[in-house]
Amino acid sequence: MSESTEHSGQKFVYDFTEGNRDLKDLLGGKGANLAEMTNLRLPVPPGFTITTEACRVYLDSGSEPPALRDEVSAHLDALERHMGKKLGQADDPLLVSVRSGAKFSMPGMMDTVLNIGLSDASVAGLAQQAGDERFAWDSYRRLVQMFGKTVLGVDGELFEEALDEAKAAKGVTDDTDLDAGDLRALVKAFKGIVTERTGREFPQDPREQMDLAVRAVFDSWNGDRARLYRRQERIPGDLGTAVNICSMVFGNLGPDSGTGVAFTRDPASGQQGVYGDYLQNAQGEDVVAGIRNTVPLADLETIDKASYDRLMEIMETLENHYKDLCDIEFTIERGRLWMLQTRVGKRTAGAAFRIATQLVDQGLIDEAEALKRVNGAQLAQLMFPRFDENATVELLGRGIAASPGAAVGKAVFDSYTAVKWSRSGERVILIRRETNPDDLDGMIAAEGILTSRGGKTSHAAVVARGMGKTCVCGAEDLDVDTKRRRMTVGGTVVEEGDVVSVDGSTGKVYLGEVPVVPSPVVEYFEGRMHAGADDADELVVAVHRMMAYADRVRRLRVRANADNAEDALRARRFGAQGIGLCRTEHMFLGERREMVERLILADTDEERTTALEQLLPLQRQDFVELFEAMDGLPVTVRLLDPPLHEFLPDITELSVRVALAEAREDHNENDLRLLQAVHRLHEQNPMLGLRGVRLGLVIPGLFTMQVRAIAEAAAARKNAKGDPRAEIMIPLVGTVQELEIVRDEAEQVMAEVAAATGVALRLALGTMIELPRAALTAGQIAEAAEFFSFGTNDLTQTVWGFSRDDVEASFFTAYLEKGIFGVSPFETIDRDGVGALVRSAAAAGRATRPDLKLGVCGEHGGDPESVHFFHGVGLDYVSCSPFRIPVARLEAGRAAVLSRHGADSGR
Ligand code: PEP
Ligand code: MG
Repeated sequence: MSESTEHSGQKFVYDFTEGNRDLKDLLGGKGANLAEMTNLRLPVPPGFTITTEACRVYLDSGSEPPALRDEVSAHLDALERHMGKKLGQADDPLLVSVRSGAKFSMPGMMDTVLNIGLSDASVAGLAQQAGDERFAWDSYRRLVQMFGKTVLGVDGELFEEALDEAKAAKGVTDDTDLDAGDLRALVKAFKGIVTERTGREFPQDPREQMDLAVRAVFDSWNGDRARLYRRQERIPGDLGTAVNICSMVFGNLGPDSGTGVAFTRDPASGQQGVYGDYLQNAQGEDVVAGIRNTVPLADLETIDKASYDRLMEIMETLENHYKDLCDIEFTIERGRLWMLQTRVGKRTAGAAFRIATQLVDQGLIDEAEALKRVNGAQLAQLMFPRFDENATVELLGRGIAASPGAAVGKAVFDSYTAVKWSRSGERVILIRRETNPDDLDGMIAAEGILTSRGGKTSHAAVVARGMGKTCVCGAEDLDVDTKRRRMTVGGTVVEEGDVVSVDGSTGKVYLGEVPVVPSPVVEYFEGRMHAGADDADELVVAVHRMMAYADRVRRLRVRANADNAEDALRARRFGAQGIGLCRTEHMFLGERREMVERLILADTDEERTTALEQLLPLQRQDFVELFEAMDGLPVTVRLLDPPLHEFLPDITELSVRVALAEAREDHNENDLRLLQAVHRLHEQNPMLGLRGVRLGLVIPGLFTMQVRAIAEAAAARKNAKGDPRAEIMIPLVGTVQELEIVRDEAEQVMAEVAAATGVALRLALGTMIELPRAALTAGQIAEAAEFFSFGTNDLTQTVWGFSRDDVEASFFTAYLEKGIFGVSPFETIDRDGVGALVRSAAAAGRATRPDLKLGVCGEHGGDPESVHFFHGVGLDYVSCSPFRIPVARLEAGRAAVLSRHGADSGR
């Protein structure tokens, strides 16, 4: 440890021998894992890591922490002593790579800079040591190119063009056909580009090269690509990145050298085996960049058996150590294997479920750990439809199935068009020869990604898998011409705008739109496919097992938002334990709208009573069906909520109709009355107007009719030997007085129904908590409510003052871009604001009434992150749309495991 570190008390640099995998916050994922592998005595080239803390100081203050320079010097000295040579030493240079490495993997945040330490002075020394002049000049050429682009910000195309010119001048197509002299000339040309574009010479001082590269890595944290990726992946913006400085090993020293990537299991299916790509005589990122075509990893066995065997051994060690799928980057330098990186690998949704259960079966992890290895987003992805195998299709070609899913859209050949078209509502497929980080926004905008080059580990594949986006890569039959915006396959030409279908599960690409069918996982939830069947789909079995684990440990119950028997039955098949929200307004539409009109237009009690009497039997029948579908399970029926104008004709249309009729002197009395009513009920802010409980209080008989329908339906179901469990819920309550009035009336009606039917009824009566005032006075409201259901849609709207119908389209994109929030608060609960109210209202309600039942029925009830929050604040259940129920069940199980409290309190 250097003196300055001791003075400041803060350590900014860790040798690979000092860290371990648990230090990801400080050393980033790459650094922590390099240290872990070093500790496992695996062959890792020596090096050290500059911490994320140093990066944060730099980002906050605009300069490196003062102690950093000396600390880096101390570690560099140690590295030089260990390696027996100095950085950039003229006769035998130590060279290092400088690589970014944040806590969370961020592909393409910053390209690695390799060969730091090479200069005009040391290139000859490297040539001498390697016994290969071409290699030395090629390494120097790469350094100037990478450094020029990523550190000095020179347009990378300029180097590519110069390289192409050099090849053209020599009449060759491959980089490897350029000899030492050509590369020496190219270095000169590259340095000329640097000087011309930056106004400074390419730095010859090796330490300056290193320091500038480190600073560039720090800066890259706030680059556009990194920011976009973080927003997408919801990675906090203030973590900073670590920087890894690692002594170089060379995969480009001839045919006995090479570089590759490997997975301990297939990241697409989870199968154990030999998966990866190898590229002989290549350096660093050549494999990932998909520049030259790789060979399958299995071929390494014939190329270099000793290294292959050692790699297999190491892969087994790593899988057993990490107890998970690992991905690996390695280099072979003249027959010697080096590990450059490992991490717990990204995988497809299907593979995540399979791997989790396989690891349980292998005894490597337990069920609780398995639950941590999958998530609701992956499950949701598995519920997407797939292409219909029986459809007539026109196969265009086939590539590598890199990320599953069935994507259909119009062909586009550049990122800009992908974004532009998708903004105007088109579905697009982004087709490229290969992708690079500049394509990121196009990839986000596209339904699917198709490339003609690169393997499972190409940029397109890695990023698409991370995003859960359909991707087929390396479809080599496709001749992609991005300049002319078309691709040719055999005799077929696909122009920009032509529809293509891409199957990320099989790698097949079709012309035109292929119809889709439900996923086997949905078929399983629907009960049409059984996990116990002999020929059961392996994925279905894995999902079944994970759902069973989740159900066993979860404390939160999961209900459905459903208002008809069909949805209720589906919800039940999907595992719903009741209905948390039946929105009765949906029962007042269609042909019943006229009856509601009559109710609204009623001038006398008699007219009103007649209208209500007509509605009563219809409502009752709705509830009978619902209670039957949900027999034995609770059904929370919410009384009418929306503003009445929603049941009336549109004001403009009606005004025109009346005006035209008047012009014809053809008066329609009903239309005139309707128009008056529409004017009377017109509100500037209907969502803050006459709706919810307020309707029940000003329209006599409306709520009591609904309560009567519910009570009579329940009595009818009881008489039919059913087990109805109706609960009555009052919307938009702001004060306990509103609730008390409605409750007293409801109780009277229930008593009347009980007397009339002879069926003893005990229906719980509760309220939505969806206004800030309700949340703030929850203690009082609980006096009159037997349950609370948090209406987080309205609560978000009213806490933020965001109109839920308008803001997402009007300014949320700007808010998301500015990072004001990483995700819409209508999608994921705003823990600090809306969530704080939910937490305090839950506590206040329970203080008044300890057995108060608590649930949530806003959209957040099916959102994975929000489910964890609701678990944490102690709600009894979440309620969500039927299709999201499996996700909510799984996440409720995960929440129990992750919070480490719920696992023993399941019910
Ligand atoms: C809510 O406000 O969260 C809610 C569930 O009610 P609605 O969406 O019907 O207003
Ligand atoms: Mg609401």
